[in-house]
Amino acid sequence: MILQNKTAIVTGATRGIGHAIALRFAREGCNVAFCGRTRNEAMVAVEAELQSLHVMAKGYAADVADYQQAQDFVKQVIADFGSVDILVNNAGITADSAVKRMTQEQMRQVMDVNLGSVFCMTKAIQPHMWKQGHGSIVNIGSVVGIAGNYNQANYAASKAAIIGFSKSCAKEFAARNIRVNVVAPGFVETEMTADIPKELMDTWCSRIPMKRPGTTDEVAQACVFLASDMCPYITSVVLPICGGMEDA
Ligand code: NAP
Repeated sequence: MILQNKTAIVTGATRGIGHAIALRFAREGCNVAFCGRTRNEAMVAVEAELQSLHVMAKGYAADVADYQQAQDFVKQVIADFGSVDILVNNAGITADSAVKRMTQEQMRQVMDVNLGSVFCMTKAIQPHMWKQGHGSIVNIGSVVGIAGNYNQANYAASKAAIIGFSKSCAKEFAARNIRVNVVAPGFVETEMTADIPKELMDTWCSRIPMKRPGTTDEVAQACVFLASDMCPYITSVVLPICGGMEDA
């Protein structure tokens, strides 16, 4: 178990990729603090599922795009768990539209949640990791942040910005042994992609060399690696998990 005796925060783990990351981490012996915006049935179920793996696990209601809520969330996790070794910034949203129809609100909302949450959570955890002299931050980007995508200019911009932010943090934090990396999934079937029409999905899959979407667990396994002590000299990388999509 390669994350034994570590504690991680995973944002947005009530479903989808975040849930898979929390589950993989717990299977690797990691204590997991996670959040969603509300304490709902899904959160309680994930909490019970993780606890059944004999690790410490707790769900918190926190909107991580809100600076004060992110501060309070991290403070409470440190009080409850004692320390935090790993932060996975996974929470994210889409509000798709062609640029010619995109509203300023759609642009602002996606930037606020996707980039804003990474900033707020990094600000909240940095003093703790700095003081303890180690840490691994994994930010969930997207291949769309590298290649762009139709109807996703706002989302692509937010994910591209996460790369610039992460690489800057990697430089600033390296002296204190805090690594910052980005995992960039391609197309993964979750609630976020559930509304995509089947014909469009088939077209996208036909363009992926591996001819299928990725699974949430395939993204989670990459996060385990980057979070672990198996890669102590890897920082500032962007790791695409996309079945070989060419422009990623
Ligand atoms: P999802 O199924 O929609 O899940 C999103 C999660 O984020 C939920 O747990 C949601 O919880 C939480 N969340 C959203 N806004 C939040 C906020 N402000 N504060 C706290 N939690 C928040 O999405 P997913 O497909 O698993 O995507 C997860 C990440 O992977 C995102 O960053 C996404 O951009 C990225 N990604 C996904 C794909 C894909 O194909 N699915 C591809 C590339 C990258 P609540 O609703 O309970 O608050």
